[in-house]
Amino acid sequence: METVEKKNSPERLDPASPRLRLAVPAVLAIAAALFALRPGASGRALAAPAPPSPHPPLTRRVVLVVLDAWRRADALDATRMPTVARLARGGVLGPMETGVRTFTKPCFAEMLTGGGSTLRDSLLNLARNPAPAESIFGRARAGGAGMRLIDATSDFVDLFSREIPTDAIVRVDPGAPSPDPDDVFNDQGIESAVLEALARPSLRLVAAHLQSVDHAGHLFGAAGPRYAAAVASADRRVGRIAARMDLANETLVLVGDHGADLSGHHGGPESAARETAYLAAGSGIRARPAGLLPSTAIAGLVTGLLGDCPPSAAPPGGADALLALNDTARVRTASICPCRSGAPARSRPGLAAAGAALVLAGIAGSSAPRPR
Ligand SMILES: [Zn+2]
Repeated sequence: METVEKKNSPERLDPASPRLRLAVPAVLAIAAALFALRPGASGRALAAPAPPSPHPPLTRRVVLVVLDAWRRADALDATRMPTVARLARGGVLGPMETGVRTFTKPCFAEMLTGGGSTLRDSLLNLARNPAPAESIFGRARAGGAGMRLIDATSDFVDLFSREIPTDAIVRVDPGAPSPDPDDVFNDQGIESAVLEALARPSLRLVAAHLQSVDHAGHLFGAAGPRYAAAVASADRRVGRIAARMDLANETLVLVGDHGADLSGHHGGPESAARETAYLAAGSGIRARPAGLLPSTAIAGLVTGLLGDCPPSAAPPGGADALLALNDTARVRTASICPCRSGAPARSRPGLAAAGAALVLAGIAGSSAPRPR
């Protein structure tokens, strides 16, 4: 009873009360922390634009092709993907492992920001759900690179629309008829848009999303002839894109967003869904035995090729072994830049604000008289 009376006493409501003077900033600090941590704010906020990179680019252009549900078993089998095997002879082809959330958009986010994903990202796989951190697109844009993102779904836009100019997006109609019967999601339209982009020298980053293999797996399973035909079709498509590139001065990066099991399923942490692959060929790539890469290394691979620092969430030096960083005097400085030698990533302003607010709340709380 005595405690209740004290809590409601006029002395505690007096604006001049020391308790109230301390409680107000504490409440404001907690509110600021909650505001900064709300979904869509700090946890989803992008870092401030990066300063211009000190790195010389290793290539004139990166063509990044995501082959949806590229199973590692297919990628590393030269009888199923002979063009990929041929391209690998001048570059590097190796196994890659995704995170545990093997839906397309969490995998895209991890691969292109270099950061992690959350269960929320899996739940919102089919919804608009911006990536949690800056990506290769924000870095490329800050570096002044022209870009084009080509997709038959809204995956790129849903994730990265804050970082990419609207005129950089090309949406292809997935239902448009394709002359290829094994092309069930109009990858032909994607290929045509890529070839059109290659004719524009100002576009230094061209990203495209091929999905017929994924859809063939979902429709027919990954063990039968229809799926094998879709894989072979994708292999020929990659070959046609590479044939239009000048690989002495440009770079092709082909990656799977995730794998799939023999039923064509993916989405969880099962190993078949996490097992995919990467191919990198052309300018700036050091031909060498390929090791296992985490998919988060791809962000640093692409930005390293373009001469940008990696996104702040990317693991330092994740794919540097693939880059021709020390091959010539022209690129020697790249290997000693702080951002390529394990310097700590820049903190996210939203999280920093939240942390500062919580510290302030803690100080205010510890200074305030404790109720008895
Ligand atoms: Zn996918």
